[in-house]
Amino acid sequence: AKRKGRGLTQVYKEKLLAEQERNFAICQALKTAIAQNELSVLFQPVVAAESHAVVSYEALLRWNSRDYGPISPDEFIPIAEDTGEIVPLGNFVLDAALGQLVRSGYHDNPLKMAVNVSLRQLIAPGFLEAVRSSLARHDVRPGDLVLEVTESIFDTRQQPIISFVLHQLDSYGVEIHIDDFGTGYSSLSRLHELPIHALKIDRSFVHALDTHGKAIIEGTALIARKLGIHIIAEGVETPLQARQLEELGIEYLQGYLFGRPSPKLMESHRIQSA
Ligand code: C2E
Ligand code: CA
Ligand code: CA
Ligand code: CA
Repeated sequence: AKRKGRGLTQVYKEKLLAEQERNFAICQALKTAIAQNELSVLFQPVVAAESHAVVSYEALLRWNSRDYGPISPDEFIPIAEDTGEIVPLGNFVLDAALGQLVRSGYHDNPLKMAVNVSLRQLIAPGFLEAVRSSLARHDVRPGDLVLEVTESIFDTRQQPIISFVLHQLDSYGVEIHIDDFGTGYSSLSRLHELPIHALKIDRSFVHALDTHGKAIIEGTALIARKLGIHIIAEGVETPLQARQLEELGIEYLQGYLFGRPSPKLMESHRIQSA
């Protein structure tokens, strides 16, 4: 048993080392990703539950590294958050997303764009200015920009700055949505403290609609409604899930059923939103 134990420790150490080496390599490659044109942004629609009309798009970052090939945001975003590289990356996404919105006929047919924002980015100096200047540069109404943040905004140590930034954004008219809702700190009791416009129910609950998911979604929807907060369900893959969510009173849906992330905004939003 002793020998086996040592063997496992060795395997574990090697795995950890390999992981650290990869993280370091990714971290280095990320620094030149923007300049080398390795980044792109895809767009996934959010639809109204009743009509299935597109109401907004979410911008999702993609990285195709010259040296390492495509790397998932689930892998490189946490690294970029650690190194601070998320700040230039985040600015890139914001600008690319608003640029694509405008090129897709925004000025004739207004539509909302949602952009993911890491906590590190939100509280970095210059964030508010970056948002304002990007909105101004593209002539997009602040009310048509949604910023998706996670429950990490309830982090108590950073509360003064987080609260300041969110209230500033709110005063511009920018919407704040909480992403992956239900997976982090249970923050239902603190929802009223910050200017939150909508919750995005994490897809793990949508995929568990036939077990524990239903009760959690129902409970969240009940409280959100009382607080005047909208609800979006993400990860909707089947017509049955869509129907169940609509019956629970969820207003907006997003998922492969309605559209995968794609480089262009769908033509059809014009017809549907008209
Ligand atoms: P997220 O914000 O929760 O985005 C939803 C993820 O679920 C996306 O993965 C999307 O492609 C995927 N998805 C959408 N519909 C479905 C569905 O019906 N079923 C399933 N199984 N998955 C679905 P993606 O694009 O790989 O992004 C992963 C995460 O990386 C995002 O999760 C977000 O946390 C982060 N991320 C992506 N782009 C950015 C960005 O520009 N900035 C920041 N800070 N984070 C980003
Ligand atoms: Ca998101
Ligand atoms: Ca999410
Ligand atoms: Ca997520």
